[in-house]
Amino acid sequence: MWQCPKCERKFKSENQSHYCGNVTTIDQYISEQPEELQKLLSQIRQTIHAAAPNAEERISWQMPTFWQGENLIHFAVSSKHIGLYPGGEATVVFAERLKDYSYSKGTIRLPLDKPIDFDLIADITRWRVEQVEEKDKNAAKLHEN
Ligand SMILES: [Zn+2]
Repeated sequence: MWQCPKCERKFKSENQSHYCGNVTTIDQYISEQPEELQKLLSQIRQTIHAAAPNAEERISWQMPTFWQGENLIHFAVSSKHIGLYPGGEATVVFAERLKDYSYSKGTIRLPLDKPIDFDLIADITRWRVEQVEEKDKNAAKLHEN
């Protein structure tokens, strides 16, 4: 692991060439990842996008993020896994389907040496969308009264 002294981002190989400024779009984030991961990352992005069609794509905390009134889900590449960050409640609700994964509250690690479960990513994302839309409805109701 090598950490760039200028931007403090971490890379697998020493002096990895990269754009040192802050990443501002998901396209840029993906294009800076190792080539062998780019297709997979695009598929993950498409999966989340399809499950959350009204969410806005942005970068938060240096991670690709889907935002719909709040952060729905982030993902990020690590050396041996792709981290999925759907919020603390999601990992409780989906615990049964996560038992073969390494995960902690709000963080799911999808190992890079195993096939990625896109259905899991889609289901978690849809659940997050339902959660924020439910919240919006309740807020609207409060307003009416
Ligand atoms: Zn740098």
